[in-house]
This record gives sequence, C-alpha cells and structure tokens, in this order.
Amino acid sequence: QAKRSGGNSYQYYRGNMRVASVEQLALETSLRKAIFKNEFVIYYQPKMDLGSGRITSVEALVRWQHPTMGLLPPSDFIPLAEESGLISAIGELVMERACRHARQWHQQGLGDICVSVNLSAHQFRKGNVAQIIDRVLDSTGLPAHLLELELTESLIMEDMDQNITLLQELRTRGIELALDDFGTGYSSLSYLKRFPVDTLKIDRSFIMEMDTSPDDAAITRAIIDMAHSLKMRVIAEGVETAAHLEMLREMGCDGIQGFYISKPVPETRLQEILRDQIHKPRVKI
Ligand code: C2E
Ligand code: MG
Ligand code: MG
Ligand code: MG
Repeated sequence: QAKRSGGNSYQYYRGNMRVASVEQLALETSLRKAIFKNEFVIYYQPKMDLGSGRITSVEALVRWQHPTMGLLPPSDFIPLAEESGLISAIGELVMERACRHARQWHQQGLGDICVSVNLSAHQFRKGNVAQIIDRVLDSTGLPAHLLELELTESLIMEDMDQNITLLQELRTRGIELALDDFGTGYSSLSYLKRFPVDTLKIDRSFIMEMDTSPDDAAITRAIIDMAHSLKMRVIAEGVETAAHLEMLREMGCDGIQGFYISKPVPETRLQEILRDQIHKPRVKI
C-alpha cells in the first residue's frame, strides 16, 4: 500500500516496513536489469609494497556503466544493492571478472598480481560464499593465493563464530584475507586477535591528516605496531602525498594504496602500469 508522507513524495511501505521512495524503486528495477545486462565495470587500484616499491596487488572497485547517467561510483548504488540483496549477484559478477583478469595478467607475464575483492555482509549471510569462491577459482584457473577478500569488522561481528570458522576455512585454501577500513568499526581490540586475517588496511580517515594531526599519526603508528605484534601485514589506504608515504615508511608500514600511487583505473590502463614496471629495477622508492 502507498501512503502520502508529506511534500509530494510517495513512500511505499513493504512487508518489513522498510521505506523506499519511488526513485529508489526505479533505481532498484534498473539495478536488476543492470545485473542481467552486466553493465558493471571494474576499475583497479594498485597497491604498492613498500619493501620493493612494486605493485604486487590491486583492489577491484566496481562502477556501474549506466545507460543514461554515465559511470556511477559505488556510493550511488552499493547501499541500495545491499538493502535489496542484489549485492550478492553483483559481488559474484565482480569476483568472477576480477579473477579472470588476474589470471590473464598472470598468463601475460605481468607478474603474480593478487586481486582484492570487497565482500559485503549479505554475501556471507547467504551461506554459499565458499562454494561461489571455489567455483570461480576453478572456472578461472586463478591460484587461490592470488585472490584476497576484503572484509569489514562489522561483517565478521555480525555472526562472529560462524564467520570466523568460514574465514579459517577459506584461509586454509590459501586465499588472503584483509580487514578493510580498520579503525572505523566498533569491535573491541580483544576480538582482533581472533579474526583470522593476514592484512589490516588502516582506514583513510587516519591517513588523510596524519601530517598535520599528531593524534592521527599516533593512532596510525599504534595500529602498525599492533598489527605487526599480531603477525599481520598492514597497509594504509588513502595515501595522497609524498609526506604520507614518508611517514608511513618510517613507521614500518608494509604497503600503501591511494591517489599518490594511482587512482582506480580501467583494466586496459592497469595492464600498461603493470607492463611498465616489469622493466624497472627493484629499488626502494
Ligand atoms: P573501500 O573498499 O574502502 O575502497 C577504497 C575507496 O577509497 C575507493 O572508493 C577508492 O577509490 C577510494 N580511494 C582510494 N585511494 C584514495 C585516496 O587517496 N583518496 C581518496 N579520497 N579516496 C581514495 P570507491 O571506488 O568509490 O569505492 C567505495 C567503496 O565502495 C569501497 O570502499 C567499498 O566499500 C565499496 N565497493 C567498491 N566495490 C565494491 C564491490 O565490488 N563490492 C562491494 N561489496 N563493495 C564495493
Ligand atoms: Mg576495500
Ligand atoms: Mg577500505
Ligand atoms: Mg575506506
């Protein structure tokens, strides 16, 4: 049933009392079509290993090539995709395509580039995420150690015991696990040691002002030290300047990701970036 909610916007009340505007419903319909027509494009953002100065992994970041609205960023459709459950189908398309690309880079001699894919809580709730990953690795032929899953603390916390078991299982297959946006969640540090992850990604909110905010710099240093004590790798996201890079290197951070290295780029551009570095000597930057 529809109900007038003031102004001239109609709001629809659904079974679960979730409220959606007319525009949202229209967007949801076109999102369904987009899955069917596969209108998603993956951009890749390089991550640089600070030990070697080389790009050793890339993060797959989805965009929607909308027929009339152009290239849409995830913030325009991921929230709705999560809410409507369509994120599972989109996530599967992204995983499939990203693994296929990574396998091609490997075959083309562009290096052992690990590809990271963001997972949403909905994909875990469905309970078949391990089967989907197995199927994708099998059909694309990508070695498991070249796939990394990026998860958030809140995703793991949602059903902690069950998710930890599942993550441990994925990890025994050689899949890499990273904790995304670290520092923005609400989980207690005592949980962190139970999370079976290989890498912590420090949220960019701490990095952006670390050169002017002593507090942010102190937090970043503490996260790096803590991660190392827990035998985890640590990388910083949102690195935009040489000053950030210098500070992070001095703090012992293992890797960086951010506009200073590269913005997310289309796959063809990434190939050029990877090809360019083949001939570069391995030096510290
Ligand atoms: P995220 O996983 O934390 O990805 C990093 C985001 O930070 C990306 O935004 C990237 O473009 C941006 N970024 C990277 N370096 C810098 C920098 O130096 N400065 C600034 N200001 N921003 C930087 P993007 O591509 O818009 O993605 C936003 C979020 O959307 C991602 O955050 C992730 O949570 C979500 N997302 C993207 N692709 C997928 C996907 O395939 N599945 C799911 N479930 N979520 C996705
Ligand atoms: Mg991520
Ligand atoms: Mg992140
Ligand atoms: Mg983030």
